[in-house]
Amino acid sequence: MKKKEHNYSKNSPKVYIRTYGCQMNEYDSEIMAGLLNNSGYHLTDNLEEAKIIILNTCYVREKVKHRIYSRLGELRKLKGKKPDLILGLSGCLVQREPEEVLHRAPYLDFILGTSNFYQLPEVLEEISGNDNREKQVKKRCTRVVRAEENRTIPEGLPILRKSKFSAFVSIMRGCNNFCSYCNVPYVRGREVSRSSREILREIEELAQKGYKEVTLLGQNVNSYGKDLSGDQDFADLLIQVNRVKGIRRIRFTTSHPKDLSDKLIDQMARLDKVCEHFHLPVQSGSNKILSRMKRGYTRKHYQNLVDKLRQAIPEITLTTDIIVGFPGEEEEDFRNTLELVETVGFDGAFTFCYSPLRGTEAAQSEERIPAEISGERLRRLIELQQAILLKKNKSLVGRKFEVMVEGISKKNPDEVEGRTRGNKIIIFPGGKNLIGRFIWVEIVKAGCWALRGMVLSRDEKTSRHNPKSIYSDGEELS
Ligand code: SF4
Repeated sequence: MKKKEHNYSKNSPKVYIRTYGCQMNEYDSEIMAGLLNNSGYHLTDNLEEAKIIILNTCYVREKVKHRIYSRLGELRKLKGKKPDLILGLSGCLVQREPEEVLHRAPYLDFILGTSNFYQLPEVLEEISGNDNREKQVKKRCTRVVRAEENRTIPEGLPILRKSKFSAFVSIMRGCNNFCSYCNVPYVRGREVSRSSREILREIEELAQKGYKEVTLLGQNVNSYGKDLSGDQDFADLLIQVNRVKGIRRIRFTTSHPKDLSDKLIDQMARLDKVCEHFHLPVQSGSNKILSRMKRGYTRKHYQNLVDKLRQAIPEITLTTDIIVGFPGEEEEDFRNTLELVETVGFDGAFTFCYSPLRGTEAAQSEERIPAEISGERLRRLIELQQAILLKKNKSLVGRKFEVMVEGISKKNPDEVEGRTRGNKIIIFPGGKNLIGRFIWVEIVKAGCWALRGMVLSRDEKTSRHNPKSIYSDGEELS
């Protein structure tokens, strides 16, 4: 008999969860959803019908914080109309400044930090049975355990994943790097790796349920295992995950250039399920700025890594993160960044204007770059990156790729979209029946953000463009 996935009944309270930020936060929301589902709550995408609303917050930029408070302001009005509505906040913003959150939004019924959101069902139960929510304010605040004190990752938690074929799997939490602009070490604590036994158990279970792709998550996966007894590193973990039958694609994010080892590059080239895509945040092409950012590498080191990756895996696609307008960035520093972008030829870049984040070292700098200059640099950077990307994508026309279909195209219900192993998005004609399947397509048109494809017949499909695509356990490629 098929195992029931939902544990709610018709009268179960409905919960709406909105996630802000990165994949790590998405993963935490999936755990919250799993915990709630196990406790008999009903997850909904419809805010209007929700009895409980949770915003799982991010605090990577001040702008995001403003967006969250403005959303809270709207929800306060909703709460005015529906006094029984339970409103809660979780995640990085709460972890960083619980007192301020409660000061600015005293109408919140609960807050939970990144290190104790696992207590959600218990907290909801307490709130539902309490008539005087106001009195709980102090308790709500002290529930947020200091991130740096939290050295354990609870295992065996239920996870209600959005996708039925592609899953995030956290392999570690926290970060030890203290880049001068970032607050992750404060909101997620220091690095704690999960045991490889637990990670493999989770991935094997996923494979048994029919999942085909896993993305291993960590703030810096390259330093996986450093805190564990034994000498297992991230490359060793990949070797083990590569052996899990049923899993066909392995991805990971994020990597820190200073911890990327030759061993990892060698294993990436060798392991058939590890996809040919590397997200390697560079942040700046200027050594002066890299040093101010406390990144721990130089531009030359980064370029050497790119060369090694391309030599070992010629088909690899590279994506990155870049910040412009960092305090003290002069025109020459910025030009160094443009030069690096041109030399490397990234397949994608998340580009941002620097915005000071309270409590970080860089926020104290007096060498702020005026917004007009940062904005103008960002525009130039985006223009260059788009031109590079378009050229690269155009060179793919006529090439054949295996695509894992992720869903119906947002723009056209008669088309589907999916990703190549190199993480390129391809849109092609098809319907719901293709979702979760591997399809071979030929690229017929290229744009900046997506490529258009044509489905290949059985005879036309080929693996010649994938140097490692020898699947021993593969289902028939349609
Ligand atoms: S490596 Fe730096 S930017 Fe990345 S999470 Fe750690 S501190 Fe933040």
